[in-house]
Amino acid sequence: MITIALSKGRIYEETLPLLEAAGIVPAEDPEKSRKLILATNHPGVRVIIVRASDVPTYVQYGAADLGVAGLDLLLEHGGKGLYQPLDLGIARCKLMVAVPEGFDYQAAVRRGARLRVATKYIGTAREHFAAKGVHVDLIKLYGSMELAPLVGLADAIVDVVDTGSTLRANRLVAVEEILRISSRLVVNPASMKVKRAEVVPVIEAFERASRA
Ligand code: AMP
Repeated sequence: MITIALSKGRIYEETLPLLEAAGIVPAEDPEKSRKLILATNHPGVRVIIVRASDVPTYVQYGAADLGVAGLDLLLEHGGKGLYQPLDLGIARCKLMVAVPEGFDYQAAVRRGARLRVATKYIGTAREHFAAKGVHVDLIKLYGSMELAPLVGLADAIVDVVDTGSTLRANRLVAVEEILRISSRLVVNPASMKVKRAEVVPVIEAFERASRA
């Protein structure tokens, strides 16, 4: 039996065609079912539904053999104990610095001001600002980062941006790109050895389908 860890939403939707290319079709839709373990048409394969930020952890500890995780979350996790054979090119977005309209970010940075930055991505943000020599106080949030500058919690945010409509709706503007993000296939290194005959065909099918 192999276990594949996926998160609901964009990653699940964009991974479905890749699973299909590997001959794997989940028996239920996680958006409709509350089940966290989904059987598939393939008796030797099951899918587990976990929070996106938990996918690397499930695979690291071998609770899942394979998983799909965004580069943003892999960097925060550190990638320890994970084999990352494939960039699937799905769920693309960018990690950006954003500020309220009218806030002069470049001037604040030039002045050497100490910025308060709210984000879920503490590790990546710390590295980014340290490399630029910008002084920041990082404030850890778990969601709705866009709210923080609007209510005085922070001067800026570091968040994932796709179309930019969430920023626009909250009168924020992106001022700096930190990272281009896409989702990667991650594999438990022990599964790669012990379950090679089951795991490798999935990796190869994903590779062919994501290239096509
Ligand atoms: P948008 O309004 O299209 O720029 O989308 C921005 C919001 O959607 C952000 O608050 C993100 O949390 C989320 N988002 C968009 N794309 C992704 C992605 N590929 N992975 C994770 N979150 C995303």
